[in-house]
Amino acid sequence: MRTILHSDCNSFYASVEVAGNPRLQGKPVAVCGDPALRHGIILAKSQEAKVHGVTTGEAVWEAQRKCPGLILVPADHRKYSLYARRMRELYRQYTPLVEPFGMDESWLDVTGHALCGEEIAARLRMSARRDLGITLSVGVSFNKVFAKLGSDMRKPDATTVISRENYQDKVWPLPVSDLLYVGRATARRLYDLGIYTIGEIALAPAAVLRGALGKNGDTLRRMARGEDDSPVLCPETAEEIKSVGNSTTTPRDVVNLQEAKVILYLLGDSVAARLRAGGHTCRTVSVWMRDTALSGIIRQCRLPRASDLGSDISRAAYALLEAHYAWDLPLRSLGVTASDLAASGADAQLPLWQDLRHDRERALEQALDGLRARWGHNCVRRGLMFCDQAMTDLNPVDDHALQPLAQMNGRG
Ligand SMILES: [Mg+2]
Repeated sequence: MRTILHSDCNSFYASVEVAGNPRLQGKPVAVCGDPALRHGIILAKSQEAKVHGVTTGEAVWEAQRKCPGLILVPADHRKYSLYARRMRELYRQYTPLVEPFGMDESWLDVTGHALCGEEIAARLRMSARRDLGITLSVGVSFNKVFAKLGSDMRKPDATTVISRENYQDKVWPLPVSDLLYVGRATARRLYDLGIYTIGEIALAPAAVLRGALGKNGDTLRRMARGEDDSPVLCPETAEEIKSVGNSTTTPRDVVNLQEAKVILYLLGDSVAARLRAGGHTCRTVSVWMRDTALSGIIRQCRLPRASDLGSDISRAAYALLEAHYAWDLPLRSLGVTASDLAASGADAQLPLWQDLRHDRERALEQALDGLRARWGHNCVRRGLMFCDQAMTDLNPVDDHALQPLAQMNGRG
């Protein structure tokens, strides 16, 4: 049987700030985009701030009202990348199979290690606390999905074991929305079936779930039953993930550059969010364009430097389309793919990080990731999106409106 750990750094940004500045120890601290702006957003908070009710994603003025002594610290993404890399180095002392999920979470496959999963979790927590000043919540289980659920169950500085013996007691009473990849739209469809808990997914007839959710229904059922067998993928050493791409068939034909731009930015942003979630940057962007006669072309370009930003990827995609599409026919489908992937933070000391604009945009897009995780994908959109509501009411995450490009090509 496999042993998988999911490790989640508690209040990562705030913990890093406190670790680097002992005067902040024991105080309510919040990291925000720009403290000079009262309307900035809280990106992370210390336990002490959490006790006062400060939450991630709320406005700075709101947090200050709840917690008048709140110490605000501007986000320093270069520092967080360095800490994230040190965390991965710590994990690699136990296994080469480390898969980052966002900046502060990772899966570890420690199958076959001389120590049991729970003991490895205890040692990781001890080392992270002592050497880096960071506390971890660790889930230990026999698959990735349950390990991730475990790390969410108790925090801070805790281990939760979900075994074959106890998963029905521990996991099955949880709401469906706790399961990885169950977004709002999927949850709503499950509620329509009268399914509210993970256990109810596990026990529902496969045909019912498939009828409501298609192939995703099968996947969710397997996850709920503890049958998830997806491997821990290590982006630095393995070649499993070569590219990240999304594509869409548009609600109506795309007839000009301005309409195409809206779609490309939607795709570029969703690709970038997936890169960040996987802890990757890319160097190459390609655009796939298919016209109404269903003939397609692909063009690609190299970015001036590695990036995981929607703005960089979308801009490159748009430049490609502008340069290479002749508009003899309207477009029916568009795709954007990021390739030449590397681990984000791997190049943290290169000039990339000296560029203030890049740092700011990265902070912004990470804040958006946080907001979208809490409030749904369409809670924030680029201003561009409002010029064509019909085209952009797609919810690329929850509704699976955008398809991974490989699937799309397979059909096309
Ligand atoms: Mg965390």
